[in-house]
Amino acid sequence: MPLVAMRQLLDEAAKGGYGVGAFNVNNMEQIQAIMEAARETQSPVIIQASRGARAYSQDRFLYHLMIAATEVYPEIPVVLHLDHGNSPATCKSAIEMGFTSVMMDGSLMEDGKTPSSYEYNVRVTREVVAMAHAKGVTVEAEIGCLGGIEDGHGAGGSGMEHLTDPAQAEQFVKDTNCDALAIAIGTSHGAYKFTKKPDGSVLKMDVLIEIHKRLPKTHLVMHGSSSVPKELQDIINQYGGKLKPTWGVPVEEIQLGIRNGVRKINVDTDNRLAITGAIRKVFMESPEKFDPRDYLKPAREAMKKVVMQRMIEFGQAGHAKDFTPIPLAEMAEMYKKELATA
Ligand SMILES: [Zn+2]
Repeated sequence: MPLVAMRQLLDEAAKGGYGVGAFNVNNMEQIQAIMEAARETQSPVIIQASRGARAYSQDRFLYHLMIAATEVYPEIPVVLHLDHGNSPATCKSAIEMGFTSVMMDGSLMEDGKTPSSYEYNVRVTREVVAMAHAKGVTVEAEIGCLGGIEDGHGAGGSGMEHLTDPAQAEQFVKDTNCDALAIAIGTSHGAYKFTKKPDGSVLKMDVLIEIHKRLPKTHLVMHGSSSVPKELQDIINQYGGKLKPTWGVPVEEIQLGIRNGVRKINVDTDNRLAITGAIRKVFMESPEKFDPRDYLKPAREAMKKVVMQRMIEFGQAGHAKDFTPIPLAEMAEMYKKELATA
């Protein structure tokens, strides 16, 4: 089947009361790992690429790998989503290339680092919503800023500095008509999210619940939501790595989020850890090997295992065949009608 609009996937997830993992990719092995996991668990899935990933893969390679994924796995509904678009121009280039969903992150200025004003965020998000919806493409927006920096993008800091204000989130969705909303509840991008297992003082699930109460129909997105499991850290360190002890977002907290309106969960770090651990193991145990397949195959397998586990934990497993994909042109018509009746 062709690439699917994210709005439809998230609407289905809301009906079914589950969440959908959004996994970042840069290369063929990562796309294959996700698609294999989706096939094995019969999951609809979101594959996302950051600006860094688009630059790394020269855009066209990534796009054609994704088309290959839809050909090789025709039974799996898959969304191609732009992660953290920094400007309407970046979103426009993604839409033109065939992404079926874009994130306009107007919580930061175009440099991807400086927190912006509410007015700026509304203006750029509205611009992208108009452009994307006309083509049936989904828009994710962000209000409040996550901590940390990844791929050169992020406000830095601890994640506690720019938490989302629930009243402002409610106004923002009214002002922009975005399809999905990323919120800041204390999480950060990258591996170093928390210095101990997070409790309610640093992971503000109460803020999330309050936002869901005010916006029961909006699909909420948890960014920086790798769980950073100790087993994956240990494999890296056992085979010569030097990761400092760190904690991610526990799966049970994500599941609490899913019961409170979270429909998209971004996971990147866990997959990076799995890949690196598997490669380090081969290098240490078999230093005579030099065929890239000798370490890329176990790396792909390790990532597939993590992705499968998340698909089961988030509840998307078993839902691949629940619905028939709506063509983007029909999605565009739906948005037109929504506007007319608003
Ligand atoms: Zn993010």
